[in-house]
Amino acid sequence: MNRLLSLDAPVLEIIEREFQGLYSGELWLSSIKGGQTAADHALEALDITGYANNRSEVFPKSRRGASALSPYIRHNLLTLPQVHRAVKTAPYKDREKFQDELYWQEYARHLYARIGTRLFENLRFEANATTQGDGWNRDMQCIDEVVSELETDGWLVNQTRMWLASHWTVRNDFGWQHGQERMYRELIDGSRAANLLGWQWTVGAGTGKPYGFARWQVEKRAPGLCGKCTLVNACPIQEFPQETVLNRLNVDALLERDSDPENTSGPRVVVQLETPKFVLLTIDSMGDNDPALLANPDLPAVFVFNEEALRKLQLSSRRIGFYLQTLQDLAQRRELQVYLGDPYKFAKDNPVAVTFAPVPSFKKFSGLAEIHPYPWLQQPHSGSVKSFSSWRKSK
Ligand SMILES: Cc1cc2nc3c(=O)[nH]c(=O)nc-3n(C[C@H](O)[C@H](O)[C@H](O)COP(=O)(O)OP(=O)(O)OC[C@H]3O[C@@H](n4cnc5c(N)ncnc54)[C@H](O)[C@@H]3O)c2cc1C
Repeated sequence: MNRLLSLDAPVLEIIEREFQGLYSGELWLSSIKGGQTAADHALEALDITGYANNRSEVFPKSRRGASALSPYIRHNLLTLPQVHRAVKTAPYKDREKFQDELYWQEYARHLYARIGTRLFENLRFEANATTQGDGWNRDMQCIDEVVSELETDGWLVNQTRMWLASHWTVRNDFGWQHGQERMYRELIDGSRAANLLGWQWTVGAGTGKPYGFARWQVEKRAPGLCGKCTLVNACPIQEFPQETVLNRLNVDALLERDSDPENTSGPRVVVQLETPKFVLLTIDSMGDNDPALLANPDLPAVFVFNEEALRKLQLSSRRIGFYLQTLQDLAQRRELQVYLGDPYKFAKDNPVAVTFAPVPSFKKFSGLAEIHPYPWLQQPHSGSVKSFSSWRKSK
């Protein structure tokens, strides 16, 4: 049964009233605000001068060169082609590096679209995926500061995501699947595609070369932090972890070749089977420029929070707050109905137009009235996706 939600209240009040048992942790919002209006402002203010040198800086925050666009990119409030275009006049070195990172995001989407839930398992090398336990010792200042930022703001720079993933599995030998789940719950840009890729690559399951995290990176990227640590003279990560050789796994044929790239990429043109009465937005496409929304300017938009998935995932209130802020913002420009229940049932019971999403759960939709193509940065090909470089080279 889908239950209509009113958006007419402060976001935290809505979460407290309507999402009991469906989120984890303290009720709190991220400093990065959800919504198309906020996304557009962030893109207008984007200046990537110095990005190539500063993208990995951590503390003080004023030294950071990262754009913090990921929550908007993740939900296609800003599409990858749009952000790619927006930096076309930036200095060459910064533009090259930044656009390369956009391609990493696109690569994650292609990989996940092709292999689906197989991305939850070691891809090419055998890293510890399953050992239970908490791999983040909070008595270390570097880990404590970063986990606190994850838990209060729901966002981290790439560098500290690598610290956390490496510390969890490479140093402390706990299973990366549990670490990625914990991070996924908190990140307001949390996507299975990029999060699973990030963990697999950091712990070595993707490349065979685990990323080692040591005091060296903390001193370089967050100068002064070690001075505040009670373990400054007994640092558990003084040296790099011992290099390990991971066992190579048999290559999955699907990584080498896709026999059905059309199925992976979704339709290239609009597929209409019936006249739609609603536009259904999904978590993968919540922006004003959602193709189905743009093509149907007179239809009401609908968003259905998946109650069963939320109960299982226990996402943080930061994430749910980001979605609610986005929907409140959209409701200022479009007629919008928001429900808590089952999006697949809504799509079955009503003729909806929807934009294809390159994620396994999209296959749960049936009887869709109209399907719009996904706004790829690059159309998925049938060649190798087993590494970023082989994916970039393939046609
Ligand atoms: C362990 C781990 C987990 C991660 N989990 C996620 C996740 O759940 N969602 C997510 O969007 N990204 C994830 N990433 C990738 C990356 O860390 C973030 O996209 C980036 O830090 C976001 O910050 P930004 O917008 O300032 O990035 P910028 O450096 O400004 O880059 C611009 C955009 O490029 C893309 N991008 C940058 N670096 C990467 C990368 N390494 N991989 C894929 N895309 C990238 C993002 O869309 C980002 O917004 C993860 C990386 C690691 C190592």
